[in-house]
Amino acid sequence: MTEPAKDIEKVDVVIVGAGFSGLAAARKLHKAGKAVIVLEARDRVGGRIWDPQLPDGRTVLLGGQWIAEEQTRMWSLGDEFGLTRFTTVREGNLLFYNGETYLESPPLSGDNEKSKLDEVIEEFENMAKTVPLEAPWLTPNANEWDSLTLYSWLAQRVDNALLEQMTITIMGYMSMPADLSLLHALFYTRANGGFASLFAMGNENAHDTHVFEEGAQRITEGIAKELGDRLRLDSPVFTISQRQAGVTVSGSNFTVQADQVIVAMPPTLSGCIHYDPAMPSTRNMLTQRTHMAGRDLKFILMYEKPFWREQGLSGTLSNDQGPVNIALDSTPDHERWAVLAGFVNDRAKGRDLIDLPDAGREQGIVNALTEAFGEQIRTYVSYHEHDWAADDWSRGCVTVFAPAAWTSYGQALREPVGNIHWAGTETSIEYPGQMEGAVRAGERAAEEILSITKKP
Ligand SMILES: Cc1cc2nc3c(=O)[nH]c(=O)nc-3n(C[C@H](O)[C@H](O)[C@H](O)COP(=O)(O)OP(=O)(O)OC[C@H]3O[C@@H](n4cnc5c(N)ncnc54)[C@H](O)[C@@H]3O)c2cc1C
Repeated sequence: MTEPAKDIEKVDVVIVGAGFSGLAAARKLHKAGKAVIVLEARDRVGGRIWDPQLPDGRTVLLGGQWIAEEQTRMWSLGDEFGLTRFTTVREGNLLFYNGETYLESPPLSGDNEKSKLDEVIEEFENMAKTVPLEAPWLTPNANEWDSLTLYSWLAQRVDNALLEQMTITIMGYMSMPADLSLLHALFYTRANGGFASLFAMGNENAHDTHVFEEGAQRITEGIAKELGDRLRLDSPVFTISQRQAGVTVSGSNFTVQADQVIVAMPPTLSGCIHYDPAMPSTRNMLTQRTHMAGRDLKFILMYEKPFWREQGLSGTLSNDQGPVNIALDSTPDHERWAVLAGFVNDRAKGRDLIDLPDAGREQGIVNALTEAFGEQIRTYVSYHEHDWAADDWSRGCVTVFAPAAWTSYGQALREPVGNIHWAGTETSIEYPGQMEGAVRAGERAAEEILSITKKP
């Protein structure tokens, strides 16, 4: 029996991926009068933002959550969709693990280490200033710096103890220092407003000063509503074929034809789509050498009250040995519930913990936090977690560029291939890796298409 022919829809632009980037692109094109279809693999929008709402009204922020006022696109989208922002609480002591026990202030404030750390940061910031964000491969020392990992550069400057402490902070915002090119670390830090802004813990100038109480995913749901049936969930794209007349984008039960397509996802996931004809080799190399950082489990513990504040603690915890590496107070201003958000990274004890079965992970995290916050940590109302590396449509939180990736293949990051355009936070030169970068990248890709189609 022959299969009935599938209906083939035709639009101006197909957007693949309904994270912040794809939706920002679709919204801009739709407003400019273009016929669009957004194809999303998951049964929800938001991508690396996922903020489920519990029946009692609490929201669980399982993916990206922190923003800053300088991140003007996210700031104004929050206003536009009527979200409430709360400020990250900084008052109180930080808990810092010194290898044996928790101290109530960072050992980095010791004079010698502080000045050594300051020296290294100053050198790093000065180097970062020489990186052209549009084209990191044109940095005067590009070849040398892209041949080193961040780890090998740091190891020449600081002792092992300080290196371990720095590693855990760097993993919180980028990746394992041994896993990423020094040139990429410089690019990424500069593009995110500098060291003090990116490496945020307990820092008043940081990019993590505010959170949307309802969750940033509500913005993506608002855009989805505007798009109506132009958005198709449960529609993983498997193939993009390109001929002179345009592109054909297909999955297991749909085919859409368009003049242009925007692929809005991490480069490594864009490399999982089959292209006909095949991508240029530089693009194929780029998508293989820009991988997701190590495994990152985000967990949320919810309480009736932020009890740690009564102990004079800010809720911020840093432990380079794990299993819990970072914890932060994420309690909304109304304090109808309290939240401790945390991360387990892909190192030693953390690695073992991520591999435990469900109940084991919860117990392991709570036991580890008891040492820091005392028995009250066990009084949580609910526990939530998400292992982003095990999530097939994300496979991790942040993209890293391996050594030699920028200098050898960096030009393929944004360069369209015929009628195929690239978005996703990774393609932004402002706040890459953040929601802000995702929005800016989506709008840039939309603009790219509008400027082509405006031409006579
Ligand atoms: C745990 C965690 C914490 C974070 N913390 C912060 C933070 O505090 N502040 C901040 O600003 N950012 C943070 N981020 C990063 C932020 O979430 C991302 O930078 C941003 O959401 C990326 O948006 P995007 O649209 O570029 O990509 P994504 O959100 O990854 O969207 C890509 C979309 O493409 C879809 N897709 C993939 N393959 C296909 C296919 N073949 N067919 C169809 N659809 C496909 C995916 O399902 C996904 O919806 C965090 C991320 C995580 C995971």
